[in-house]
Amino acid sequence: QLILAIESSCDETSVAVIEDGTKILSNIVASQIKSHERFGGVVPEVASRHHVEQIIGCMEEAFQEAGVQVTDLGAVAVTYGPGLVGALLIGITAAKTFAWANDLPLIPVNHMAGHIYASRLSHEMTFPLMALLVSGGHTELVYMKEHGSYEVIGETRDDAAGEAYDKVGRVLGVTYPSGKIIDEMAHQGSDTYNFPRAMIKEDNFDFSFSGLKSAFINLVHNAEQRGEELIPNDLAASFQQSVIDVLVSKTIRACETYEVKQLIMAGGVAANQGLRREMKTQLAEKMPEVVFSVPELKLCGDNAAMIGAAAFVEANKGNVATLELNAKPSLIF
Ligand code: ATP
Ligand code: MG
Ligand code: FE
Repeated sequence: QLILAIESSCDETSVAVIEDGTKILSNIVASQIKSHERFGGVVPEVASRHHVEQIIGCMEEAFQEAGVQVTDLGAVAVTYGPGLVGALLIGITAAKTFAWANDLPLIPVNHMAGHIYASRLSHEMTFPLMALLVSGGHTELVYMKEHGSYEVIGETRDDAAGEAYDKVGRVLGVTYPSGKIIDEMAHQGSDTYNFPRAMIKEDNFDFSFSGLKSAFINLVHNAEQRGEELIPNDLAASFQQSVIDVLVSKTIRACETYEVKQLIMAGGVAANQGLRREMKTQLAEKMPEVVFSVPELKLCGDNAAMIGAAAFVEANKGNVATLELNAKPSLIF
């Protein structure tokens, strides 16, 4: 079955054609980063306008690159949350219009389910599994006993991991989004500043990153006042090691407790080289029987291919939306 998938929840306009939930025929991603960079974050109104300008062109390109016709499609899928309401509405309106005009079923997709299913575009899924979702707006552990079934067993109590990267990046003078650059800096520095590892020992699967962010900001400000020099690469390495230690430790404990067969790590922060390496190494050491999967790099960030992969499962469950479908900015599992 061919699905046309549309994603517009934040600052990427993306349209993909996916076959049977596992094969990418095309995946067009128009990023708006250049327009938001100077504001140090995504400006919702600017994002919506870009989506309006980009969406039709992305749809045309997705068909062209896939080499398919409208009549080959079995369904249209769209992200309906979580995300920015104005941004979501552009994709939803495009999807509804297209579904109505071509008499196709409309499949509603949760953006975070999409991030998890990005993994299925390169690896099989074996249940039960644990998913660590680490992105710009989310940090959570999700237990899946079967396709399309999600149980959040722990989550951040304040900032998401990606958000912490972006906020710390501002203090380091790194352009938004900062994750990738901090990751690169971290590899040229070492963990000398010893930031806190929040909640690492607590008997739950929750996270907290705002204390780490504050510790980082305070250290930099105090040093500035005293005229002391700090080493940026070491700051990056210390921050990153604190994030990695907490994520790896709690995720592996969750895998042990829930006796899963697979661990999927997904979302923008799953592109982090240090995190990918350390999660893989420690899981292989502590639970060698658990399969570790992480989407290929370009599918960690927002894209429509992952929405098409998650939509295939929803379509098989018979989850079809009416033309009343609305954006759900705070959608949860
Ligand atoms: P959500 O998916 O929670 O709605 P989002 O869609 O905005 O939020 P993503 O696009 O999945 O988030 O991820 C973007 C985040 O990933 C940004 O915070 C960015 O800094 C971070 N990021 C990207 N690459 C890396 C990296 N190599 N290391 C750490 N963080 C990274
Ligand atoms: Mg983005
Ligand atoms: Fe995302």
